[in-house]
Amino acid sequence: MNLTDAPRSAPDVPETADVVVIGAGQAGLSAAYHLRRRGLVPAGAAPSGIDEAPRTYVVLDAEDGPGGAWRHRWRSLRMATVNGIYDLPGVEQPGVDPEAASVDVLPAYFGDYESDLGLAVVRPVRVRRVERAADDAGLLVRWEVAGRSGVIAARALISATGTWTKPFWPYYPGQESFRGRQLHTADYVRAEDLAGARVAVVGGGISAVQLLDEISHVAETFWFTRREPVWRKEFGPDEGSRAVAMVDQRVREGLPPQSVVSVTGLIRTPSLRAAAERGVLKRRPMFSRIVPEGVVTADGDALPVDAIFWNTGFRAALDHLRPLRLRAPGGGIRMDATQVAGEPRVHLVGYGPSASTVGANRAGREAVARILRFLSAEDERLPAPHGARGAGSRRGSSGDVRAR
Ligand code: FAD
Repeated sequence: MNLTDAPRSAPDVPETADVVVIGAGQAGLSAAYHLRRRGLVPAGAAPSGIDEAPRTYVVLDAEDGPGGAWRHRWRSLRMATVNGIYDLPGVEQPGVDPEAASVDVLPAYFGDYESDLGLAVVRPVRVRRVERAADDAGLLVRWEVAGRSGVIAARALISATGTWTKPFWPYYPGQESFRGRQLHTADYVRAEDLAGARVAVVGGGISAVQLLDEISHVAETFWFTRREPVWRKEFGPDEGSRAVAMVDQRVREGLPPQSVVSVTGLIRTPSLRAAAERGVLKRRPMFSRIVPEGVVTADGDALPVDAIFWNTGFRAALDHLRPLRLRAPGGGIRMDATQVAGEPRVHLVGYGPSASTVGANRAGREAVARILRFLSAEDERLPAPHGARGAGSRRGSSGDVRAR
């Protein structure tokens, strides 16, 4: 791709910022809100040439517009059928028609939030790599947008990149030989696309059962899960707290986080009760392999299907952090609340126990408070120019910081 392919309104990306936030979903916007509240200003907008210039931040987001993952959720996911969306910090959601599509309501709410609060999200910009600056003086955030790439020298990072861009596809023998269609939750648009088909629906989470119910009205469905799903009558705050505590413990030990839902189980909503009555929620143990015409069940029977619909979840989208080598021996990232253990410059918000709208809100606040404490302590420790306000003062030691 060359420069002529660049979008006409290619965003201005600063070369330095005290804090870089990656992602502008619920988690990134919560962080941005608290950064602004604590007096940081968007990088590039800071007055220069004065001694006590305010600290700066930038929010980079890969999307073309506001909303984070809500921009991509299927149209039939209505405000009445989402799990409960917490307000972004400080601004209530406007009164919402429960029948309205979340894909319409939430991106509009996020967009108003960004502009009303002047959060100055820079998009579309994808962060490819985050590296340590020489002598550990900060971080280098390498970004790109069609036809352009560059680097931001930062003192701290909040990675709030969610999971939507990292769908998890398990592997089953013969998968590549399948002649039908395979799709993931992240690809799903509408049930009509599967009308008349025989569909193997895989997965035991909320998305799996909601979409199984939905497509069962227009397709013949076969439901496969590895384990018997746990059904609950209701899901109170105690169960929520227990589930979050369990995921928190896992990430403190450096284990991969489980989704909070996988710990909490499923609720029989009225529509799922109706689906059960129609015989749709008849769960089969996971098939053993895939053949060109369908799947081979655990009993060894061939079951012809036209499509396999993988509702098998998502993983944290953290590939851009690979150069930092954060993985613990347990396969996850060892966390100390929002901070990566032993890495005071690096925080993950919306990860593990904070991978929910309420969790993201709290984690954004906590990450900002800790980062500001860290920056102040660093300023005290280091004499000027290192200790001076602003990441720009640290550029000399961080190598290439110029946008190419
Ligand atoms: P996202 O909304 O995914 O935002 C991440 C942002 O980071 C995106 O804009 C993305 O483009 C950007 N990004 C990613 N990588 C990069 C990169 N390298 N460079 C630049 N930008 C990048 N939670 C609830 O509390 N209530 C619900 O009802 C609910 N329903 C859900 C339904 C589904 C189908 C799913 C999958 C999840 C649901 N969740 C729900 C969990 C939900 O995803 C989170 O609560 C929350 O929306 C996630 O916000 P986030 O900011 O962490 O991630």
